[in-house]
Amino acid sequence: MIYTGGTIGMIENSETGALESFNFHHLLDNVPELKKLGSSISTLQFDPPIDSSDMDQDKWVELVRIISENYNYFDGFVVLHGTDTMAYTASALSFMLENLDKPVILTGSQLPIGVLRTDGKENLITAIEIAAAKENGKPIVPEVCILFENFLMRGNRTRKINAENFNAFRSQNYPPLARVGIHIKYDTHLVLHNSTNRPLRPHYLMDPNVVVLKIFPGITPQTVNSILNIPNLKGVVMETFGSGNAMTKQWFLNALKAAVERGIVIVNVTQCSGGSVQMGLYETGNKLSETGVISGYDITTEAALTKLMFLFGHNMTPQEVKEHMRAALVGELTLHI
Ligand code: ASP
Repeated sequence: MIYTGGTIGMIENSETGALESFNFHHLLDNVPELKKLGSSISTLQFDPPIDSSDMDQDKWVELVRIISENYNYFDGFVVLHGTDTMAYTASALSFMLENLDKPVILTGSQLPIGVLRTDGKENLITAIEIAAAKENGKPIVPEVCILFENFLMRGNRTRKINAENFNAFRSQNYPPLARVGIHIKYDTHLVLHNSTNRPLRPHYLMDPNVVVLKIFPGITPQTVNSILNIPNLKGVVMETFGSGNAMTKQWFLNALKAAVERGIVIVNVTQCSGGSVQMGLYETGNKLSETGVISGYDITTEAALTKLMFLFGHNMTPQEVKEHMRAALVGELTLHI
């Protein structure tokens, strides 16, 4: 169990009333039930633990290093993480841990574990149970997942959709891998298995020269041009309307075309919380295709962004990056023609 930080391990500062990260041992004190689980659990904590708003590519590398160095000693890994950027971390890890064949289950909570009505205890205990779950001697879910309240979801399909509800995450474009109630009901046919038989290959290179461009009615040429002309920019996740539509104004299309010609990869994803980009559906989408913008299909912004960081981190050419963005590496998208 790796505690990175986040609400789950926080306590209230008695003077300021603000939530602060607490020493990891506090968690074990507050969840004596952990000792009753049949699993033997080793713990490790980020020093200092961080609010997940401070997550970045260096911390992902740290996580990948911890997991790969300990990979052979454990059946599975539970990563305790703040909810705010958990979907980004889960997406990044899914790409960085190539050939994964053990569960890596991220969880956290909306209420600190020391609070009476906390959702943290259940999430923590269930995550450990899932990380240790085996069938015929093999892990049931050898994927990077997020477990939160009632659902176990493929990590790179999730988004945080609510700032208050205990059910704070959703995987809109792929069914949950398990539903958690009285029983944990796995949908095993939905689970991805490493078919290569190759050992874990950890990746440590992520290129942060990427950006999210969310378009909106009335967005100005200055805004679009300043973003597309950021020095060293390599990839753009462009959040468009509905099924991948955007303005057809000539200045906008010209700006996109010029950026693509400079070698910037622009990926079209929807601003909607579910559904897929279909660039051939409307004339507006067609116009985008003509500029060289590529479809992200039903990928989330979180997965598209971290995938671009991963691909550019490996020094791929824009053409190679485009080819990889059009295919699912670890179940992060469903192709639609
Ligand atoms: N701000 C916190 C974090 O993401 C919120 C949480 O843990 O739920 O670290």
